[in-house]
Amino acid sequence: TYALEIEGLTKNYGDGFQALKGIDLQVREGDFFALLGPNGAGKSTTLGIVSSLVNKTSGAVRVFGHDIDTDLSNAKLSLGVVPQEFNFNQFEKVVDIVTTQAGYYGIPLKAARVSAEKYLKKLGLWDKRDTPARMLSGGMKRRLMIARALVHEPKLLILDEPTAGVDIELRRSMWQFLEEMNRQGTTIILTTHYLEEAEALCRNIAIIDHGQIIRHTSKRELLQQL
Ligand code: ADP
Ligand code: ADP
Repeated sequence: TYALEIEGLTKNYGDGFQALKGIDLQVREGDFFALLGPNGAGKSTTLGIVSSLVNKTSGAVRVFGHDIDTDLSNAKLSLGVVPQEFNFNQFEKVVDIVTTQAGYYGIPLKAARVSAEKYLKKLGLWDKRDTPARMLSGGMKRRLMIARALVHEPKLLILDEPTAGVDIELRRSMWQFLEEMNRQGTTIILTTHYLEEAEALCRNIAIIDHGQIIRHTSKRELLQQL
């Protein structure tokens, strides 16, 4: 089975605009995969549909074989998502944001606390555990989003433009963190409009433009063709 399989995915927004025109994508278990394309290509729409934040118009999406139409709760359990925008409660404490998220997956409070501590430590936020999220720097907020996405230990982690607006130092440390997660077996998919980022991190790349996948290849092949 694939970590992520997308077939014939289309999206027409309410205003009639067709943002996705029939996307096909397969990402193998263990892969580090980039969905690369310019702004407006359809990357966030695709990830929004995979994480069931956006309704699709047609097509199929399976996460580790779990179809989001018929088996959404298992699809969600296999998946951690880091959206671009900060969508946590800014007034909540850092540790509560992560622990509460674990509760949504049915993880008992004690285990939720253990997991929250583990991921806040990994992301260098344990010292900030009692700080309201709004007091964090932008880079810390981004790391908080990652800790929250990992608290239920998903097999697939999806990040939408994870290093957009992030300074070079944090970008490097995030890259290292993601590489380490991938080495330990987590499948990772990120979207980016930086070829450099896809090149630095990913084994396989799909290029999306105007709502269509225009190329689906290994990094090695892509670099040979450029
Ligand atoms: P859906 O089809 O998923 O319900 P909608 O078409 O209802 O999505 O759009 C959701 C919201 O996003 C609307 O309030 C819409 O006005 C707004 N929106 C419209 N155009 C854009 C755009 N280009 N980028 C982001 N948001 C937009
Ligand atoms: P990317 O993530 O690659 O920048 P998006 O998926 O955000 O691209 O957007 C793809 C296209 O869909 C863009 O033309 C964008 O303006 C449009 N779009 C995104 N969200 C909405 C919305 N809610 N309503 C209408 N159009 C939208």
